[in-house]
Amino acid sequence: MYNSPVRKWWVWAVVVHLPAILLAEPFSKTIAAASVTPELRASLSSDYLIDVVVTPHEGDAWTRLAKRVTGDAERWHDIAAFNKAGDNLTSEQRVHVPLSMLRGELQKQIVASLFPRDGLTDRGWRHVVAGGTGIEGESLWNIAEWFTGRGERYAAIRSANPGQGLSTRTGDVILIPRELLTAAFGGEVEGRNAPKTAQARKSEDDPVERSSADGHDADAPVEVRSTARPVARIPVGYPVRIPMELLLPEYRPADDPARVADEATKRASAKLAKRARARGLAGVRVILDAGHGGRDVGAIHDGVSESSYVYDVMCRLKRIIEKRSAAAVSTTTKSASDGYDVVDSDALDPQDDHVVLTTPRYALDDDTTVGVNLRWYLANSIFRRAVKRGVPREKVVFLSLHADSLHPALRGTMAYIPGSDYVTGSYEKSGGVYLARAEVREAPTVRHTEKESLTAEGLSRDLAESIVDAIESKGLQVHAFNPVRDNVVRNGREWVPAVIRYNLVPTRILLEICNLGNARDRALMKTKAYRQKLASRFTRASWRSTPIARSAARSWQHRDNVGRASARHWRAEARPPWKHIIRRACHVLSKAI
Ligand SMILES: [Zn+2]
Repeated sequence: MYNSPVRKWWVWAVVVHLPAILLAEPFSKTIAAASVTPELRASLSSDYLIDVVVTPHEGDAWTRLAKRVTGDAERWHDIAAFNKAGDNLTSEQRVHVPLSMLRGELQKQIVASLFPRDGLTDRGWRHVVAGGTGIEGESLWNIAEWFTGRGERYAAIRSANPGQGLSTRTGDVILIPRELLTAAFGGEVEGRNAPKTAQARKSEDDPVERSSADGHDADAPVEVRSTARPVARIPVGYPVRIPMELLLPEYRPADDPARVADEATKRASAKLAKRARARGLAGVRVILDAGHGGRDVGAIHDGVSESSYVYDVMCRLKRIIEKRSAAAVSTTTKSASDGYDVVDSDALDPQDDHVVLTTPRYALDDDTTVGVNLRWYLANSIFRRAVKRGVPREKVVFLSLHADSLHPALRGTMAYIPGSDYVTGSYEKSGGVYLARAEVREAPTVRHTEKESLTAEGLSRDLAESIVDAIESKGLQVHAFNPVRDNVVRNGREWVPAVIRYNLVPTRILLEICNLGNARDRALMKTKAYRQKLASRFTRASWRSTPIARSAARSWQHRDNVGRASARHWRAEARPPWKHIIRRACHVLSKAI
């Protein structure tokens, strides 16, 4: 039913267009290497890129080298351009050559060395996934690129391998049908008419979703076209088209009903959110939550596990607040053996003995969903006790720390706040594991009134923007697109992560402190100096009192600029209001089920 109108809303936007400098992944590791000839070496990086390096001969020339490795002396222009090199070749130069440009037999030799279990069969090339240090192996896109010359052919490979997901695991056997193979691997394909678009959504393995699965997996309220390729493999500079209905409201045209409603909500929430002013943070209660923990390591890239590193940042943050302010700090979890010790080292050993500090405690070695739910029950209990003691509601802050697992080109910090549309009605957990805990028994059901949700959105946005500003002002990275978001969008569903959704603390944020999928962010996280710097920025920002009017005005201004700039790229058409109303209704229903 969406087919014809949907076409009109398809809009074009170049989303990932970051400087080429981001393409360099100096920290990515080699997981396999091969010396095909004394002058030609190939390696497979942990990002599943095959890098081929040729050492020129003494007195070599570009044309001779090109002829040797590609079979065509004229390709020297392409090779020199690929290396950003001039006309003169010296024997000291290390020349990188794209795999697809090499002579067929060289391609085959390289692949045979990097993937020794591969081979040609009657039906096609049989590729055994090598896998790296993480869970996921090379993507179907990588495989399509190597064996068919074009990543876009991943879909045909997928249909030839029923049951195969877009990601692979070590040891998976993938058949690349003979009719798709390039000549190098026994086929005849040589096409070059690559389509120019792909559809993109966020990474499929978002740690937020994994940790907040709570049974609200109702059918997607919106029809969504399938993802054309796993987003973690989209090359930088690749044009991506996004259906208008998937765009965040602030990127839609000014008269789009979703944007109008969104801005009305923001104004209402900003009006309700009266910021607390507290000299030296006196009377402020901060609840810190380090995501995952115990056996749940969260996102993991190249041995950098989300749980250990965000726990370290949390401990640093706790120490800074306690040393330099009058605020009181509570945490939701604790390492049973090391407590809140800040380790004086760059790389961290994995830590897996975290407990949730409920009464009694809950060891995070069992069910991660229970762990997540107990965190907000605990936070709500701390909040209620503080309010009872006379602490103003605005002086309690909840901060959950996570690290993202997104496209390797994206960097920086991003904050999720509880969008008021997604925080409605009442919710409760039952069952022995919950009711055994005092914090659950004292109030098993959580309820948010509309006013509370609006207030929470305003207060949380204010703090999130302040944190993002503080990070940016010191030259640290924040997410390039919308660093403050009021929901997570995945597979056509929008939601707020459970740990801030069922939470009663009015000012509550889930911070993705960096993108572990990015090699630079990852390398930085592996330094104690950076973790300390981040923690001190979070503290600095968090409780600086700025008049809300100013920050609100600044954010409206920002959104308007985005709208105008974007109008040049989008064939934007406003959605009829009934679509919006139906979509809202679906949301309410999906929550009620
Ligand atoms: Zn996480």
